[in-house]
Amino acid sequence: MARVGGDEFVVVQTMMAGPGDAAALAERIMVEIALPYDIDGHAVSIDTSIGIAIFPHDGDTVEALLKNADTALYRAKEAGRGVTCFFEAEMEVRLRERGLLEHDLRGAMAKGEFEINFQPLHACGTRDVTAFETLLRWHHPVRGDVSPAEFIPVAEECGLIVPLGQWVLEQACAAAAAWPQPYTVAVNLSPVQFRRGGLPAQVAEVLARTGLAASRLELEVTEGLLIEDAEGALATMQALKALGVRLALDDFGTGYSSLSYLRRFPFDKLKIDKSFTQAIELDPGARAIVDAILAMGHSLNLRVTAEGVETEAQLAFLRTLDCDEAQGFLLGRPVPADQLHRRLDAEARLERA
Ligand code: C2E
Ligand code: MG
Ligand code: MG
Repeated sequence: MARVGGDEFVVVQTMMAGPGDAAALAERIMVEIALPYDIDGHAVSIDTSIGIAIFPHDGDTVEALLKNADTALYRAKEAGRGVTCFFEAEMEVRLRERGLLEHDLRGAMAKGEFEINFQPLHACGTRDVTAFETLLRWHHPVRGDVSPAEFIPVAEECGLIVPLGQWVLEQACAAAAAWPQPYTVAVNLSPVQFRRGGLPAQVAEVLARTGLAASRLELEVTEGLLIEDAEGALATMQALKALGVRLALDDFGTGYSSLSYLRRFPFDKLKIDKSFTQAIELDPGARAIVDAILAMGHSLNLRVTAEGVETEAQLAFLRTLDCDEAQGFLLGRPVPADQLHRRLDAEARLERA
């Protein structure tokens, strides 16, 4: 057994009958390390992640075995705490693909490949526009448009989300400050931007520089943020609220959907995930959940937005439940910032005429 750096260790197991022996050893190591330590009367426990590569199948040199065990370890860490992963050749392909994406992502900002789009949020009853959500787009010269669902996690992992998120915030606030009508602008924030610290000061600075009123900015976060570091997140959220910006909980229903989060954290709005909205017509269970989320949200004085509204039937159902806002392809697709600006200008001219 050897320590190869930081908190990483290598265990060489010989005389194995098969992969089951490696799994059994991994299990023993994990159980043993997880036993709680008593530190000043506090029980502290340690999680272990383990990656396994087997000779000669996964490599017939020391270097190849170590590298592949490391790839498996990377996958294990990605899968959560206390996980063991065996190396699979396809992991390497995925890792290489991710490396390429990361490489391109690092150059994309300087090359001006990013763009922001805005998607409208509408009042359910009147269908009036209430706000626009900022959605990031990456136009890759070779891959074409890459979905944020694909590149945001990579940007988060390599830390690039911090400058990228800052850029999105600036673009969104500057655009909104120039709109002829004082609509709210929503911006998605990554948990990584919270963890980095200094977020409230950055937001305050962007608002001051762009001249956007704090009351017109809404920041969207997901539950992941609250689970990872509840205390830190709460302090940052309170500081953001003190600036006068509003906070929305995005994708509600897909994570832990904990009621205690809604009570503890200073949210103004809850956004029901599109998976529920889209199941409304077919699945009575989804209807019951949407109904329950709305009742609960309203009783906590939160505004509720349904995401992913694609049909009139979905909108009609949401209206019967007094849902506040709807967002989705039925009402408006995301459009580039300049296109939206031209449209808002034309509307303002029409109103004046
Ligand atoms: P989100 O914040 O929940 O954004 C809503 C997503 O639903 C957007 O996907 C939007 O295009 C899509 N959508 C809207 N209406 C409909 C509909 O009627 N049907 C369907 N099927 N989809 C609809 P998009 O733009 O691909 O973004 C995916 C996610 O990426 C976002 O989910 C958000 O979590 C993340 N994201 C996007 N831009 C940013 C950003 O600037 N920063 C961060 N941290 N995350 C971002
Ligand atoms: Mg969002
Ligand atoms: Mg969402």
